[in-house]
Amino acid sequence: MSNVEIGPIRPPSESRSLLIRLSRNCPWNRCLFCPVYKGENFSLRKKEDILREIDYLKEIFHSIKELLKKRSLYELSQEIESYFEFSRIEDVRRLLHWIYHNEFTVFLQDADPLFRKKEELIEIIGYLKSSFPEIKRITTYGRGSTIAKYSLDELIKLKEAGLNRVHTGLESGSDEVLDLVCKGVKSEDIIIAGKKLKTAGIEYSLYFMPGLGGRRLSKKHVAETLYVINNAEPDFVRLRTLGLNEGIPLFELVKDGSFEVQSEEELVSEIKSLIEGININTCLTSDHSLNLLMEINGRLPQDKESMLKKIDKFLNLPAETRLKFILARRHYEVFELNEFLSFKNYKTDFEYEKIKCLSEQERDLLFLSLRSQNL
Ligand code: SF4
Repeated sequence: MSNVEIGPIRPPSESRSLLIRLSRNCPWNRCLFCPVYKGENFSLRKKEDILREIDYLKEIFHSIKELLKKRSLYELSQEIESYFEFSRIEDVRRLLHWIYHNEFTVFLQDADPLFRKKEELIEIIGYLKSSFPEIKRITTYGRGSTIAKYSLDELIKLKEAGLNRVHTGLESGSDEVLDLVCKGVKSEDIIIAGKKLKTAGIEYSLYFMPGLGGRRLSKKHVAETLYVINNAEPDFVRLRTLGLNEGIPLFELVKDGSFEVQSEEELVSEIKSLIEGININTCLTSDHSLNLLMEINGRLPQDKESMLKKIDKFLNLPAETRLKFILARRHYEVFELNEFLSFKNYKTDFEYEKIKCLSEQERDLLFLSLRSQNL
C-alpha cells in the first residue's frame, strides 16, 4: 500500500529515481505501436495533491535520516515496521532505495507532464527541488510537439526551477513512418525542441525505434531519423526495438499483411546504419531488453568503431550460430553475444532443430512474439 500515486512506466535509465506523478496517462494516446495507456483517460493531477505528496515524502525522508544517525541502512531496512506505520511502509522502502543508490534523481510521470500549465509546472518542480536539496537531477517525459510550443524563456525558467533532462519518444525521424503509426508529431517539432532545450541548458534524450518502418520503409526510417538526430543534437540516443503483440493496434496491420516485420538481423542492421550516420557528439545506449544486442553502448564519435565491431561480429556469425544466439537471447538465457560465445550448451539449442525449418517470415514473427512477451 502506498500513499503516493505512481504511474505505470518510467525509462530504464530512471530505475533508481524517485517517481513523482504529475499527470495520468497520455494526452495523445493514439500511437499504434504503444500498449501503455490504451483505454485510459488523460488527466492532470491537482497541483495541491502533488505538493502534499512531496511534503509527505519529505517528512518520511527526514525521519529516515534521523534514524540513520544511529543505525545502518541495512539495519533500518530490517526494522522498518518498528518505526513506521503500516500504511507508510511501501513509501519508506521507496525512499530507502533512493538513499541506498545515493544518486538522488527524480523522474516525473506520466507520458507528458510538460502538457500542464507552464507556471504550475515551474512551481511544482521548484517546490520539489527546494523540499529535497539533495536532488541531483530531475527528468521528465515530454512529447516533441509539446516541447516545441514552449518559448525559450519558459524552458529557461524550467531549467532554473530544477528540470535537467527530457526524454522524448522520437521513434522515427520519417514523417511517413510517424504518420503510419499515428504518432501525432512532425519530425520538425523534434528538431525545434532539441534546439530550444539545448539553448535552455536542458539535456535531451531521444528514443529511436528500430523496426517501426517495417520492411517497406526501413531505409527511409533510418535515413530521415539520422537527419533529425544530427540536427536536434540530443545528448542521448536510446534504442528501443519494436515489440508488438495481440491488443496493440499495429499488430492488426501485421496480421492483415500490410505491415511486414523485419528479421532480427535487419533490425540490427538498422542500428548499424544509424550509428554509422550519426555525426554529432552524443551518447548511444541500448538499455531496453527489447533490443537484441544490449552491449551496444558508448559515446559518439569516439566509440563508433567499437560499437560497429560488436554489430559486425553478430552479423558475420555463421547462420546456425547466429540463430542459436537469437534464440538464447530471446529466451533470456544470455544478454550479450560474448556471453553466448563463451558457453556452448544452451537449453534453447534444442529449439534450433524445430525452427531451422521455418520460413523466414515465420521466424520473424516468432522472434517478434518472443521479444514482446513482457509488454
Ligand atoms: S505519445 Fe507516448 S505514451 Fe502516448 S501513445 Fe504515443 S508512445 Fe504511447
